Amino acid sequence: MRIITCLLLLISSFCFGQDKQMVNIASTVSLEQLKKNLYFLASESLEGRVMGSHGDTLASEFVAQWFRENQLEAPYQNGTSYFQSIDAFRKNLGRAELEIGTKKYVNGDGWTLSLRNAETVQLQDIPVVFAGYGIDHPLYNDFEGIDVKGKAVLILAGQPKDSSGNYLISGTKQPATVPSYQNTLKEKGAALILVFNNRFTADTLQMRKTAFQPVYKNPFMPNNNLPTLLISGERANDLLGKSQKTIKSLAQDITRALRPQSFAVNTTIGCHIEINITEEKAPNVIGIIRGSDPSADCIILSAHHDHVGRDGKDIYYGAVDNASGTVAIMEIAALMKKALGKGFRPKRTIVFASYTGEEKGLLGSFHLAANPVFPLAKTRAVLNIDMMGRVDTFYSGRRADSNYAYILVVDSLNRGLRNALFTANDQLGKLKLDTYYEQPQFMQRRLLGSDQYPFYLKGIPFIRIDCGFSKDYHQPTDTPDKINYELLSDQVQLAFLTTWNLAND
Ligand SMILES: [Zn+2]
Repeated sequence: MRIITCLLLLISSFCFGQDKQMVNIASTVSLEQLKKNLYFLASESLEGRVMGSHGDTLASEFVAQWFRENQLEAPYQNGTSYFQSIDAFRKNLGRAELEIGTKKYVNGDGWTLSLRNAETVQLQDIPVVFAGYGIDHPLYNDFEGIDVKGKAVLILAGQPKDSSGNYLISGTKQPATVPSYQNTLKEKGAALILVFNNRFTADTLQMRKTAFQPVYKNPFMPNNNLPTLLISGERANDLLGKSQKTIKSLAQDITRALRPQSFAVNTTIGCHIEINITEEKAPNVIGIIRGSDPSADCIILSAHHDHVGRDGKDIYYGAVDNASGTVAIMEIAALMKKALGKGFRPKRTIVFASYTGEEKGLLGSFHLAANPVFPLAKTRAVLNIDMMGRVDTFYSGRRADSNYAYILVVDSLNRGLRNALFTANDQLGKLKLDTYYEQPQFMQRRLLGSDQYPFYLKGIPFIRIDCGFSKDYHQPTDTPDKINYELLSDQVQLAFLTTWNLAND
C-alpha cells in the first residue's frame, strides 16, 4: 500500500513538475519572432497570398522552411517534403445570357449570378411561373394550384408580411423557420430560380467588389443547388409584362390579401451559362512531431496561410486573417522543439497543418481530411486557429478588458477537449475565454467558417480559437501594424499549452 502511495506521489509530483515546466516553456514565446514572421507573411511581396499565386507559394515555402529548422518530420516524398499538393478547379464564366422573349441580356444587365454556386446551364423556351416567396407551409403555401415542374420560377426574397409589418406565418416581427426556397423548389422539380429582392443594385455592386477573386469548385462538397439568378425589378417586370402586373404590385397584393398570388406567366425564357474549369495546384504544408506512444491517436494543429490576394494595386494583406494563426502554429512548433530539448515529448503525435485555399472554400483542409497523414479513426482532435491578436469591435467598443479569446468547442465524443483548453488557460492565468460564439444562432456560420469544418463533418472533435472580427476584416486595411502582439503572444501560449494537454490527456 505504502509503495503504491509513494508511486502515486512520485507520478503526481512528476506531472506537476512537468506542468510547471510547460508553463515556463510557454512563457518563452518570442514576441519578436511572432512579429517578424507576421510582417513577412503580411508583406507587400506576398501580395495577399491568394491560393495558387506566387505569394501563396512564398508563404508555403516560408512555413516549410520553419518546420525544417524546428525539426518537424516531413511526411511526404520519403520524409523529404512538407508539401501536400492539392488539386484546385478554377471556375471561369464563359457565355452568360438570359433571353426574355426575343431580347437577350448578358450577365450584369438586370440579372446576375453567384459564380461560386453556378454550373453550366442550357435552357431554351421554358415557361415562367410566379410563385410568391417560394414557401410551402401549412399556414401559407405559394404552390397551391400551380405547377413549377421543369419551369423557371420567379420568386420574391424573404417572407410575406401583413400591413402592420408582422410576418404572415409567425405573426410576429421575427420570420418563421421555413425550408429554404432552394430545397422546396428542387423538391418540386423546378428548372431555374429567378430571385428578386430590393437590393439588386447594391448586391451586384458588392459582388463586383469581390470579382477579382478567383472562384473554385469544391470536389468534396458537390453543388446541389438549382441554377439561381438574381434579377432586377426591371427584368422581373419584363417577364411579367403580358400579365399587366409588376413585381412590386404582386408583393403588395400578397400583403393586402394575406394569401399567395401565384400564377403561370404567359411567357418563356432561355438561359445559357457556360462554366469552364481550369486545373491548378497549390500546397498545404504539413509537419509532424512524433508522440512517445506509437499506438496513440494524433492531434491536428491547424491554421490557413492563404488570403484573398490583390485587386490591382490594393493588396489584401491578411495580417489577422490569417498570418496571425500561421505564425501561431509556427511559434508552437518552436516551443515544442524547446520542450523536446528538455526531454518532454508529447504522448500523442502532433500534425501541424498550414492550409492553402481556406478562403476559396476550405479547399486545403477538405483535401487533408480526405487524404490524412494518419487515419481519421486515429485522430483524436483538431485545434484550429483562424485570426488572432486583434481586439474586436465588441471588446474595444463596449468592454474594458481586452485579454480574451473566443472559443468554439465541439466534442460530441467527450474526449475532454474543453477541459484541455480551460486547464491550459488556468495554468497560464492570462485570458478570459469567451463563449459568445458558441450560442446556437452563430453555430452554423462558425462551423462552416473555417478549417475545422471538413473534420467536423467526419466526426472529429475540435476546438477553434480566434479573436473575432474587426472593421478591417477582408479589407486591404488588415495590416500587421494593427496587431496587438502582447495579446497575440498570450493567445499563442494558450494554443501551445492546449495542444500539449490534448496530446497528453
Ligand atoms: Zn481566415
